[in-house]
Amino acid sequence: MIFAANFKMNHTRATTADYMQALAKRMGEKRVEDRVVVFPPATALDSYKGDFTVGAQNAYPATSGAYTGETGIVQLEEFGIKTILIGHSERREILGESQEVIAEKFQFFLSQGFEIIYCIGEPLEVREQGDEAVASYLLAQFEGIDTHGEKLIVAYEPIWAIGTGRSATVEEISSTHKMLKSHINVPLLYGGSVKPNNIQEIIAVDGVDGVLVGGASLEVESFMALVTA
Ligand code: PEP
Repeated sequence: MIFAANFKMNHTRATTADYMQALAKRMGEKRVEDRVVVFPPATALDSYKGDFTVGAQNAYPATSGAYTGETGIVQLEEFGIKTILIGHSERREILGESQEVIAEKFQFFLSQGFEIIYCIGEPLEVREQGDEAVASYLLAQFEGIDTHGEKLIVAYEPIWAIGTGRSATVEEISSTHKMLKSHINVPLLYGGSVKPNNIQEIIAVDGVDGVLVGGASLEVESFMALVTA
C-alpha cells in the first residue's frame, strides 16, 4: 500500500521539520512493503531523513529560468526531490490548470525521470449522471498523459469528496477503480476524506493500492493511524 500525505498550503517549514522528525521515528510501525510519501508546501521542502519519500505538490516544467514565483528542477534537486503531484483538482479548479498545461507538466517531469502521482476526479454533477458519465469524464483527464510509465501512480479523487468529510462509498470506489484498472496498469490510489474511521474499509477494496490524504495527514498521529490500520 502507498500512503501519501498532501499538506496543501498547511504547515510551515518549522512545523514540517517537527512532523518529519516525528514521522521518521514511527516508520518502524509500518509494514516493510508499504510506502509513505509526504508532500509539504514548497517553502518546507528539504532533505528530510526517514523511511519515506518527500515530494513536491507542484512545480514548473523547466529546469530553471525566468519564471517568477515558480519552482523548477534545480530547486527540487537541491533536496533530492524526484516525486511530484500533478493534476490535483485544486490546481485544475482553483489555479485554472487546463488539461493541456497539466499534460505539458506531466511530459516534462516524466522526461526528467520523476515519479508522478497523477490525480484525476469528477465533480458532483458528473457523479450524479451515473457511471458512464464518470468514466468518460475521468478518461478525458488522461488526454496527453502517457499511462505506461514505470514511475506513474494514479490517484482517483472525486472532487466532491475532497475536504468535505464525505468519502465516496465502498461501492463507488470499487466500481470506479475497476473501470480505471481496465484502462491503466499502474498503482491506483483513492483520495477524498480518508480518515482513521474509514481507512480499513477503503484499503480493503479490490483495486485500491493506497490512499492520498489531505486533512487526516496533517497530524502525525492521525496519519500514522492510517498507515498502521
Ligand atoms: C486531497 O487533497 O488530495 C485530499 C484527498 O484531501 P482530504 O483527505 O482532506 O479530503
